[in-house]
Parts: sequence; structure tokens; C-alpha cells
Amino acid sequence: MSRSLIVDWTACEGRGLCADLLPELLTQDKWGYPQHRSTGPIQVPEALERPARQAARMCPRLALHLATEN
Ligand code: SF4
Repeated sequence: MSRSLIVDWTACEGRGLCADLLPELLTQDKWGYPQHRSTGPIQVPEALERPARQAARMCPRLALHLATEN
């Protein structure tokens, strides 16, 4: 079972809090919107599940979701 981070782009307002909380996976574009460090789905390694969950919980727009994939 793996996990991925999903950004709801209709809710995200940028400012990049998630990139500050999860710099191992995310950077910011020039407007502060999150960018993945590589292409494709944002796969979350097991070691980063806790900070990814925290980033999702702290997103002021509730725009980050940690999804489970089989
Ligand atoms: S913390 Fe939430 S609102 Fe802010 S940039 Fe990340 S996903 Fe968007």
C-alpha cells in the first residue's frame, strides 16, 4: 500500500506553507503554489508519511489530501 499527496487546485491559494513543512517532496513555484520535485503523482515514502499528514492537516485551505493507493 502506498500513499500519495493530492492537491485540490480549486482550494489551494498558494503561499507555500506545505512546501515549508515538506521540503523533501515539495517546492514552490514563483506564485507560492506547491510543485513536486519530480514529475507524476506525489508519492509519499513511508518515512515521510507523518510530515505529509501534518502538512495536510495544517493546510489553511484544506487543499492537501493524503490518499492511499493499493
Ligand atoms: S498549504 Fe495548502 S493552500 Fe497553501 S500552498 Fe499548500 S496546498 Fe496550497
